[in-house]
Amino acid sequence: MSEGTHVLVLNAGSSSVKYQLIDMLDGSRRAAGLVERIGEGGGRLVHTPHDGERREQVQVFADHSAALKAVAEELAADGLGLDSPELVAIGHRVVHGGQRFTAPTLITDEVVAEVRRLIPVAPLHNPANITGIEVARALRPDLPQVAVFDTAFHATLPEHAARYAIDRAVADEHRVRRYGFHGTSHQYVSRATARLLGRDPAEVNVIVLHLGNGASASAVAGGVCVETSMGLTPLEGLVMGTRSGDVDPGLVFHLHRVGGMTVDEIDDLLNRRSGLLGLCGDNDMREIMRRAEEGDPDARLAFDAYVHRLRKYLGAYYAVLGRVDAIAFTAGVGENAAPVRAAACAGLEELGIELDPELNSVRSGAARIVSPPYARVAVAVVPTDEELEIAQQAFALVRAA
Ligand code: ADP
Repeated sequence: MSEGTHVLVLNAGSSSVKYQLIDMLDGSRRAAGLVERIGEGGGRLVHTPHDGERREQVQVFADHSAALKAVAEELAADGLGLDSPELVAIGHRVVHGGQRFTAPTLITDEVVAEVRRLIPVAPLHNPANITGIEVARALRPDLPQVAVFDTAFHATLPEHAARYAIDRAVADEHRVRRYGFHGTSHQYVSRATARLLGRDPAEVNVIVLHLGNGASASAVAGGVCVETSMGLTPLEGLVMGTRSGDVDPGLVFHLHRVGGMTVDEIDDLLNRRSGLLGLCGDNDMREIMRRAEEGDPDARLAFDAYVHRLRKYLGAYYAVLGRVDAIAFTAGVGENAAPVRAAACAGLEELGIELDPELNSVRSGAARIVSPPYARVAVAVVPTDEELEIAQQAFALVRAA
């Protein structure tokens, strides 16, 4: 293997590709960018080299192949093309690894075929991830490429947490179980939290609250994930930007039988027209907090429902872990919305959970503790970095090969 230290991380969605070229010597970004509206009119590529001006191309990208070729050209213009000897691996974010993929995996034809077989459980995500892999492999067939799965970190869920209490034969036939998502973020943040406390991840129990547009909680005991709030799909659990999170499954039958809605309409309702958006017409927490502050009752309800669900999970995961050393807030809302953190932790002193209002209100991009030093449970704000985690896992795998 070459002595290069660069890893290209690709996150291919159905009409977009996000990428970062990371130098594993120090984790620095050599370049980063995004292609949007692939296969639609008016595509856009935004490329930012680490020491240069942001560049933008507006053109039609017919497919992912055209998009990735344009990305390769942008990288080449910075002397960082896909044929650079510095580049040692491409790390691909893959949403669903099923029960088979529980660790980063060197991509082969067989692996691609297996990820394809998982499409029925991840119809929205895995097809795009596979396209990204195929296009990247066509561009650099000889370069090691690694799949890092969103579900992998949750593969350690004990059977009693991973199973839904339904007929086992039906569940097994259709691969129905709780897989969990955002795993790369939960893994990165739980480890970074231990580091922030100056302790070995194997020694600490952490509740991670990943609050972005999608949102999920996890309970991590000694570095091992034992519970997480998303399930068979990313719909279960917390109130999210546009997803409902937990509902009575009977609601689905009700809307179908009494409301006359089709399965697709109910799918659209729960995934795209619910959560904060459904409750108040906005899914951006900044706007909701502003409206609530001005006395808007719908925005207040949305905020309160969001926080209420969060607190239910906090309490539940406290009981699952028995002892909690830290609670880590991450992603867009978790990192930036001090009022959400304050409301989530309010009145929990009996559980050893307390915030220092001053520390909590500081705006910063750094990992930091926002609880007072005497609190039994450290409350931390830890910016997530899924791309770095993917790059590290890919790099470790190719170095070990
Ligand atoms: P994604 O799940 O798309 O990766 P992010 O982790 O970037 O999402 O989170 C996006 C969300 O974070 C936005 O929808 C917004 O609600 C919230 N957010 C971002 N910045 C702030 C802020 N300063 N204050 C409150 N909420 C914020």
